[in-house]
Amino acid sequence: MKAAGSWSDPRRGSPLVAAGVSAHRTSATRANREAAGDPGLPWRQAAGAERTRRGTGGSDRRGEPAALPARRRMMEPAVSLAVCALLFLLWVRVKGLEFVLIHQRWVFVCLFLLPLSLIFDIYYYVRAWVVFKLSSAPRLHEQRVRDIQKQVREWKEQGSKTFMCTGRPGWLTVSLRVGKYKKTHKNIMINLMDILEVDTKKQIVRVEPLVTMGQVTALLTSIGWTLPVLPELDDLTVGGLIMGTGIESSSHKYGLFQHICTAYELVLADGSFVRCTPSENSDLFYAVPWSCGTLGFLVAAEIRIIPAKKYVKLRFEPVQGLEAICAKFTHESQRQENHFVEGLLYSLDEAVIMTGVMTDEVEPGKLNSIGNYYKPWFFKHVENYLKTNREGLEYIPLRHYYHRHTRSIFWELQDIIPFGNNPIFRYLFGWMVPPKISLLKLTQGETLRKLYEQHHVVQDMLVPMKCLQQALHTFQNDIHVYPIWLCPFILPSQPGLVHPKGNEAELYIDIGAYGEPRVKHFEARSCMRQLEKFVRSVHGFQMLYADCYMNREEFWEMFDGSLYHKLREKLGCQDAFPEVYDKICKAARH
Ligand SMILES: Cc1cc2nc3c(=O)[nH]c(=O)nc-3n(C[C@H](O)[C@H](O)[C@H](O)COP(=O)(O)OP(=O)(O)OC[C@H]3O[C@@H](n4cnc5c(N)ncnc54)[C@H](O)[C@@H]3O)c2cc1C
Repeated sequence: MKAAGSWSDPRRGSPLVAAGVSAHRTSATRANREAAGDPGLPWRQAAGAERTRRGTGGSDRRGEPAALPARRRMMEPAVSLAVCALLFLLWVRVKGLEFVLIHQRWVFVCLFLLPLSLIFDIYYYVRAWVVFKLSSAPRLHEQRVRDIQKQVREWKEQGSKTFMCTGRPGWLTVSLRVGKYKKTHKNIMINLMDILEVDTKKQIVRVEPLVTMGQVTALLTSIGWTLPVLPELDDLTVGGLIMGTGIESSSHKYGLFQHICTAYELVLADGSFVRCTPSENSDLFYAVPWSCGTLGFLVAAEIRIIPAKKYVKLRFEPVQGLEAICAKFTHESQRQENHFVEGLLYSLDEAVIMTGVMTDEVEPGKLNSIGNYYKPWFFKHVENYLKTNREGLEYIPLRHYYHRHTRSIFWELQDIIPFGNNPIFRYLFGWMVPPKISLLKLTQGETLRKLYEQHHVVQDMLVPMKCLQQALHTFQNDIHVYPIWLCPFILPSQPGLVHPKGNEAELYIDIGAYGEPRVKHFEARSCMRQLEKFVRSVHGFQMLYADCYMNREEFWEMFDGSLYHKLREKLGCQDAFPEVYDKICKAARH
C-alpha cells in the first residue's frame, strides 16, 4: 500500500475538540485584540450607552426604544473583558512585565500562549489537509530539493563567505536553546515537511526532515502501522531526531531513532545530492547521526515501520530501594517480550517501572485513554501507584501511549502552570494544553532565560546500564532533580560518533532530569561539569540539545570523532559547516 502526502492531525485531533478550539479561539482572539490594541474603546462605548440610558430614563430620543437593551446586552461582555484587560494591564504596569513573566508566568501562558498555540496547530492542520487533498508533496519533493541545491551553489558562487545552517528559526525547535549562529551563518531554507511514501511491503516510510512525530503517528496508526521507535513529543522532527538524538521506551529492542533508519538523502557542501545506506556510501550513513547538520543537509529519510496494534497493555510496578530498582529495571530491559520499558524515579529509592506490550484486546474495565484532555497528567497518574503501593494493569490506546508525556511536557508544565493538573483546570482548559515549546521559548525574554539557566536543568545523559546505580547517586549529589526519566536502549557497535566501548552491542540507559535542582548552592556550570565528567568516565554520552559545559577536548573524549573528521575533510565540510562542537557548546547558544 502506498500513501502519498501527509495527513497530520494536530495533538488534539478529534473533530469535537477541533470544534471547541475554533469557538474558543474567536473569543480569545477578540480578548487579545482588546487587551493589546484598544482596551479603552469598548468600555467608552458602553459607558456612553449607559450615560444615554440614564439621561433618557431608558428611552431613546431618536425613537429606537428596543435598540438600547439589545445593544447593552451586546456591550456587557465587551465591557467585562475590557475592564479585565485594563486591570490586567494595570497590574503588569505596577508589578513590571519582568516580574509577571518570571513569577506569574501562568498568567501570560494561559492568556496568550495557549490560544496562540491553538492557532498554530489549526494552521498546520489545515495545511496538512490541503497538501493531502492535492497530493502535492511527492510531486514537489524533487523540485524542493533542487531549490536547496541551488541555494547551496549560490552560496558557493558568492565565495562561501560564512558557514551554512538550516534556515529554520531557532525558536521553532524543541531544544530549549537557540543557536547564535543562525544570525551569522547563511540560512538555507528547507521547506520539507511531508510524508512522501508509505510502503508496507518493504515496511518503510519515506519522509521529509520537518515531518513531526505527531504527523507520523496520526498517519501510520490510522493505517495500522507504526515506527519501532516513536519519540514522545508531537513537535519533534525527523531531521532533529536523526541529526540530534531520538529515543523512546521501545529503544531497548530497536535502539535509538537513527538505528531504525535505513537510508538518508542529503545535499552536500558542494550542492550535490547523495543517498546513503548501510551498504551504499556507508561511511556517511554512519557519520550523519548526532552530527547536527555539519556534514550536509538532510532532505529525506527512510525509516522502518512495523505493524501496530490498537492498545498498549501496560503494567505498573512500584519498586522501593535503589538496588531493587536497578535490578528490576535491568531485568525488564533485557526481556525482549516487553515492547516498552520505562521507569519514573520519584526519589533515590522510589520508582514505578512500567512494561508494556501491544495488543488488540482489552480486558473489561481496564481501558484508560490517558491522552484525553481531562485526564490527570501521566506522571501524576503513575505516582499514584507508588503512593498507594499497588501494582496496576491498564490498556492504553497506542497513540495516547506514545504521547503520554506530551500534555505535561514530561513534568515541565507544573513549573509553568502550577495548577495545570487540577481537575477543574483540566476539564475547562485541558484541551488547550500544552503551550507550544517554541512559543514558550520565543516569549521568555533574556531575564527569564538567564534565570532558567541558573535554576533549571534539562539534561539527558546516556550511560551504560551497568552503571545505573552509580549514575543515580551522582545525579542526586550533583543536581537532585525528581522525577527522573529512565529509558533503556540498546546501543549497537557501529561506526560513528556514538557507540559502546567494546565491539558488541551494549544496553544503555537514558537518564532524563528536567526541573529545578534541589542541591544546596546549585551552580549550573560547576554542577553540570561534574556530571559531564562522570558521564565521560563511564563511557556515556550527553544529548546534544542540552546545555553542554565541556570544552572541545572533553567533548571529543566523550564522542568518537574519527569517522566524522575524516568525512568532513573528504566532503569539503570544513569551509561549509561549523564543527558539531561549535554548534552545541554553551558559547554557541543562548
Ligand atoms: C523539553 C524537551 C523534551 C524532549 N523530549 C524528547 C523525547 O521525548 N524524546 C526524544 O527522543 N528526545 C527528546 N528531546 C530531545 C530532542 O530529541 C532533541 O532536542 C532533538 O534533536 C530536537 O529535535 P527538533 O526536531 O527540535 O530538532 P532541531 O533542534 O531543529 O534540530 C537538531 C539538530 O539537527 C539539525 N538538523 C535538523 N534538521 C536538519 C536537516 N534537515 N539537515 C541538517 N541538519 C538538520 C539542526 O541544525 C540541529 O543542529 C527533548 C528535548 C527537550 C528540550
